[in-house]
Amino acid sequence: MRAFLGILALLLAGCAANQRPWLHPYRPTTTEGGFTYCAKHHIPTISVIGYHSVRTHDRIVFVHDYSPECEKCWQDSPNRLADDAKFHRTKIHSVRGRITFCPLCDADYWHCYGGNRSLSDEDVQQITSLVMQYPQFHKPILRIFAVYSPCAVVIGGHQEHVGDVFSDIGLEKRRGRWIVAYPISSHRIIAIGRDNL
Ligand SMILES: [Zn+2]
Repeated sequence: MRAFLGILALLLAGCAANQRPWLHPYRPTTTEGGFTYCAKHHIPTISVIGYHSVRTHDRIVFVHDYSPECEKCWQDSPNRLADDAKFHRTKIHSVRGRITFCPLCDADYWHCYGGNRSLSDEDVQQITSLVMQYPQFHKPILRIFAVYSPCAVVIGGHQEHVGDVFSDIGLEKRRGRWIVAYPISSHRIIAIGRDNL
C-alpha cells in the first residue's frame, strides 16, 4: 500500500492531548442520545483496539499522508481512520489503544485513493467464493471494493454493536485470478458512537 507519510514530532509541554483541533481536518459529526454519528453516512462511529502514534501530554507525533489522493479523498470521507491510527502496529503507530472511525468513510476513502476503480461482476463472484472458503472470515460479506490496481478489499461480519466482530482481507488479481494479498484480520468493536475521531 502506498504510504507517503510526513511525520512531525513536536514537544508540546503543557498541552493536553485532547486539545489539538489542528491535528485532523474538519470531521462533520452529529450527536444523538450521547452517541456520535458520521454526518455523511448517518451511522455511529465505531472503536476498536489498534495502534496510534505517540500522543502523550508532552509529545505528539503527527502523521499525515501528503499524496494528492489523500487531499482529495479525505474531503469526501471525512471520518475515515486517520493517518495516525492503524489496525496493526508499525514503526510510527507504536502505541496500543482505542482507534475510532466511520467504517463507511474508511471504505470510501481507500476506494477513492485507489482511483475509484470498479470491479466486474465476474471479479465480485470470484472474490466472494474465495473469501467464503475461509471460516475465520466473519460473514456476511458487508462490502467488496477495488483499491489500488489490481487489488480489492473485502469487509465482513457486523459493525453495529459493541462486541460485534468484523474481518477484512486484501486480495490481488494475478493472471486473471484473485489471490490473498493481505491475510484476514478481525477486530472486535469495543465502543460505539465515540467522538474522539
Ligand atoms: Zn462516514
